[in-house]
Amino acid sequence: MKTIKDIFCFLYLHNWKYKIEYHTCEGISSHIKNININIRECRWCKKRQSYTLPTINGMYSERHWSDAKFIPGEHLKFKRAYQ
Ligand SMILES: [Zn+2]
Repeated sequence: MKTIKDIFCFLYLHNWKYKIEYHTCEGISSHIKNININIRECRWCKKRQSYTLPTINGMYSERHWSDAKFIPGEHLKFKRAYQ
């Protein structure tokens, strides 16, 4: 049976918890070995999203969130953007 929370999440009204997550990484530049990523996680359905841009004055713009395909503490490998 669906709960109120499931319905809220279905309507994209997630109960977001915002945090900054530390990750080791490679592929951005030879001297960038780790990054901090702005993450938000729904307290109800555990959906995770990451913010794709640096924040401006700590403000988030709704359209720059995208689903996070990594887990906390995962080592991230980035593909080169240019050849
Ligand atoms: Zn949710």
